[in-house]
Amino acid sequence: MAVTKIKVRLVSVDVLDDSDWIWGAGEWHLHASIDGTAVGDSNREFSVHTGDSITLREADWSRVVDVSGHGPGDSVEVRLRIIEKDLFGDDNLGQVRATLRYPYRQPLRDIYLLSPWLDGGWFFDDYRCFRLHVRVTIEEEMVSTNLAGPTAVPVRRNAAGDVTRFSTVKGTAFTPRVEICPVIPIPAAPAHMPPRPAMPAGLAAGTIPAAAQVTAAPAAPALNALPNPSVIPILAAGDPNLATRAARLTLTYYEPSNLDTSKFHWRVVSGPAVIVGSASGTSIRVRGTGNAADTMATIQVHWESNSGPVLATYRAWVGKLGTLPYRVTFLNGTGGNWQTTAIMPSAQANSIMQVVRAIVYQAGVLMVPDPNVTGFDGATLFPAGNTNGIFQTTVTSNRHTRNVNHNVVSRATRYNFRPGAINFSFCHSTSQGNAAAVDRNGIAGIAVKTKWAGGKLWYQGGGTGITKKLGGSPSASWIKPSGVPKDAAGVVKSMQTINPTKRTTQAKNYDKGYVSARNTAANPFTAAMMGQLYACHCPVVWSRGTLAGAPPAWTAAQYVWNCGINLAHELGHILGLAHRGSGWSPNPPLSGDGMDCKNQKGVVKGHPWSENFMTYGYGTTTPLAHDLDLIQATVVRTHPAITYPP
Ligand SMILES: [Zn+2]
Repeated sequence: MAVTKIKVRLVSVDVLDDSDWIWGAGEWHLHASIDGTAVGDSNREFSVHTGDSITLREADWSRVVDVSGHGPGDSVEVRLRIIEKDLFGDDNLGQVRATLRYPYRQPLRDIYLLSPWLDGGWFFDDYRCFRLHVRVTIEEEMVSTNLAGPTAVPVRRNAAGDVTRFSTVKGTAFTPRVEICPVIPIPAAPAHMPPRPAMPAGLAAGTIPAAAQVTAAPAAPALNALPNPSVIPILAAGDPNLATRAARLTLTYYEPSNLDTSKFHWRVVSGPAVIVGSASGTSIRVRGTGNAADTMATIQVHWESNSGPVLATYRAWVGKLGTLPYRVTFLNGTGGNWQTTAIMPSAQANSIMQVVRAIVYQAGVLMVPDPNVTGFDGATLFPAGNTNGIFQTTVTSNRHTRNVNHNVVSRATRYNFRPGAINFSFCHSTSQGNAAAVDRNGIAGIAVKTKWAGGKLWYQGGGTGITKKLGGSPSASWIKPSGVPKDAAGVVKSMQTINPTKRTTQAKNYDKGYVSARNTAANPFTAAMMGQLYACHCPVVWSRGTLAGAPPAWTAAQYVWNCGINLAHELGHILGLAHRGSGWSPNPPLSGDGMDCKNQKGVVKGHPWSENFMTYGYGTTTPLAHDLDLIQATVVRTHPAITYPP
């Protein structure tokens, strides 16, 4: 928002020395100019004594200067020269001047100018005669509108220094609309979003800052690639990776779009967090401090300063950065085209994992390639020596990699798993065509049922997770009510976690041979360790373009992003999360975790149904399903495979 008019007022002149030490009162004439134009009346005589203060009538001694054509380097000059008239002629008591420089953004500025020292001559000390008080205020700021409409409409602050309200030239008051949506990209209509106020006609439309738009799929996303995470990780001030690890917070919408974004002033209101670098603009970086257990932090955006009006509020956990080790195990078949390592290059698997890491990092969890590079069950690093945690092995039966059935207790996921590390089992293909988090051991709840049939151990469904609750405002999950102004205050949300599997009891006999063989190969290995199998199936034939719904027009980067989102989703199940949003059923698509609300059409749906990573919001050009919310973070962070610093 550009300042287009300023008001410069000569407020008063303090008489420091009337200079007329013989004849009593001095008779002063004030010659003033603002931006080269004379103001006031230089013929008027002010009779002054030392210690007086001359108050100048605003109507006569001020001027509104149009600075709309000004740019960098331009300025407005204020001058005052005082002449004293007495019996012996005119004395020049000196001149003061002030230069006001573009962009004139200070709402209220008082300037005091001392006149120069004058020579006292043979008999007197040097002396100065006056002090001028100049006040500069913003008279008008211009907000441009769309090209199609009028090109500009003037707005002004209601009073000098008053930043709580803005008004249009017609006097219509408004507060800029500023949002920090935790869900990025912002859910599209008819998703329920907090209603926005109607703005006065003529103001520029709202805008979504670039940082809040995921329009392209970066080849190698930084850990903090996704802004507005649910957890701000605790990091040292001197952390060499602060640029890629500090949480990025961004405005997701503001209106009018031509507000001066340098005046968005961010502040940590509560919680152990500090802003890294600049606290102004549309986005900032934040790091957690201290060593406490997970604590909620509130961050607000003000206009101009801490004392300016609050425009938006954001909540996030501050917590220790957890470490979650993982390995990727390519399961090669024999014969046919079942050589998985010939279908998907190791580098592509690693690119996919970078996306998974960026999504899970929103929960303050740092996924690391398993530092233990020992291969099990014949596995070796693929390629040899890689530090990405990527292995390959050859299965004992092609049924362990080809058309693997998610509904049967998996033999695929056991290969090369290390108890306590996530195992992404890259098999050739699955019966169902998709990926699935089949080994959800170690999470809370009652396990799903299993049943022997046809010589196989089948999962029968059933079981339950547990209920997680979180209150506060803005909402823990952005479902209605959101707690954002103009919406009702936030209420406690209840989320259901996914039902676990329990391999140690369900598959004790099934795994018996494996356990003893593994113990023979790498002692000790116990049956109890099967309870630390955290794994999913991932079919590599996806990379042939058979990923369900994948348009042929996908670029390699889009493909990697969508596989990455999908594997992050499977990891979410492994860590205890149920489905959010649409799931498989479009009619009606309610959430598996119970987080539903009415959309703008009054239909109850899981929300946000395409933007949460536990949904199926795989975009074509814009990948959607990124969000991991506050309440989901509480589940993810308690998984036994994650370790935290003391
Ligand atoms: Zn799922």
